[in-house]
Amino acid sequence: MKTDEYGFNFENTYARLPELFFSHVELNPVPHGKLVIFNEMLAKDLGLNGENLRNQNGLGILSGNVIPSGGLPIAQAYGGHQFGHFTKLGDGRAILLGEQLTPNNERYDIQLKGSGRTPYSRGGDGKATLGPMLREYIISEAMHGLQIPTTRSLAVVMTGEKIYRETKLPGAILTRVAKSHLRVGTFQYASVWGSEKELKALVDYAIERHYPRLLEGNKNRYLSFLQAVIDAQARLISQWMLVGFIHGVMNTDNVAISGETIDYGPCAFMDVFNPATVFSSIDEQGRYAYANQPKITAWNLSRFAETLLPLLDADQNVAISLAEEEIRHFLSIYDGYFLNGMRKKLGITTDNPQDKELTRDLLHLMYEHKADYTNTFLDLTFERFEKGDLYSSNEFKLWKKKWKSRQEPNAFEIMEKNNPALIPRNYKVEEVLRAAVQDEDFKPLYDFLKVLKSPYDHSETQRSYARPPDPSVPYVTYCGT
Ligand code: AMP
Ligand code: MG
Repeated sequence: MKTDEYGFNFENTYARLPELFFSHVELNPVPHGKLVIFNEMLAKDLGLNGENLRNQNGLGILSGNVIPSGGLPIAQAYGGHQFGHFTKLGDGRAILLGEQLTPNNERYDIQLKGSGRTPYSRGGDGKATLGPMLREYIISEAMHGLQIPTTRSLAVVMTGEKIYRETKLPGAILTRVAKSHLRVGTFQYASVWGSEKELKALVDYAIERHYPRLLEGNKNRYLSFLQAVIDAQARLISQWMLVGFIHGVMNTDNVAISGETIDYGPCAFMDVFNPATVFSSIDEQGRYAYANQPKITAWNLSRFAETLLPLLDADQNVAISLAEEEIRHFLSIYDGYFLNGMRKKLGITTDNPQDKELTRDLLHLMYEHKADYTNTFLDLTFERFEKGDLYSSNEFKLWKKKWKSRQEPNAFEIMEKNNPALIPRNYKVEEVLRAAVQDEDFKPLYDFLKVLKSPYDHSETQRSYARPPDPSVPYVTYCGT
């Protein structure tokens, strides 16, 4: 394997797609990059040389000042339904440097986010600020710790620029790592602004990159592709729901075909269990509320299926009924994953038709008694029923009896592995971001990231981060750029 001193081993297969799908871009050099955080373990997995990347020259790459060898900077084109309205979008503040081939022969996009204007920037400055980039770093790495498919964060650098938002803020660039940045919106772009030939080129590319098993002996590989994407989304969203993750901006441009969680804007974890929970300031209708996430995913997948219609069958009516049939299956596939996950959270490994009700009843009781979602499952795991309205209620005592009769002898071990000791609590995220942005004190951030790496450890340190927030302080997130 031939790599440079930084370990880059780039290919640029996306840039071989028709030009419709991207634009070549120039770098936008920044005054002086300062490394804030670097993900040594991820670098190693990618086959990158952390030591060299962290030095002054390496920093030039992470700051968007220097193109690494083999890199080919491009911005990708895509469209998207944003809160239901379709728009032409694209990487307005990100550039793809290349696709890193790892020592395990995996392929990952290496993208700079916040690296300046591109042909898709519209009115924006293409820049990002330190708070939101560190926030993406924290939450994406927390998701990875929780074993949920996600884009990763390799580094955050401060650019030395002041960025104008409501106030002047320090500029920053995040190096994002993803299986790819193909989104539902990329297919929508092809479908609306491309020819059928261009659409087919994109779909064939996506299949080869993410679902190569579909290339062999397949009667209708495009239908299988739709099924595979539906399955990956059902699995992903069930994992979000099981840990109380609320994405906050599930527009079709933020749905990755690979099945990774992407675009950490206004996302946050739910504290008290309430299906209607919304954190994002712009989600006034609660379109992306906690309990709406599966339904919205079905809606997004319908938009995806529409883009594939010309490939599904030569007869449009046949194509539509094939697509509709698959979309109809989504919610039951999702339910299956969710119920299975819930069983594990409750220490159950066998199937019983009553488990759905058992789960629903527990969630209902949590809602009625305003119980903390994460900590209730911890209490069940460690049998801590001393404190809290929920546990002293008669309904809970009845529920507990039913639950106990369903548990396996090794329930504790199963529950420990499926109920995190901590999530990135919103107040804690804000606390470490405040220290980082206001005081350039990064120690709380590093400490926090360390515990978020292993949320299933249940150590004393992990536990010290489990405290729920003060319920009288509401939490609001913003689509920070
Ligand atoms: P997001 O909210 O991150 O999903 O972004 C939605 C769209 O707005 C994408 O096309 C982004 O590239 C674009 N965008 C967001 N922030 C900026 C910015 N500061 N400058 C230019 N484009 C931006
Ligand atoms: Mg986006």
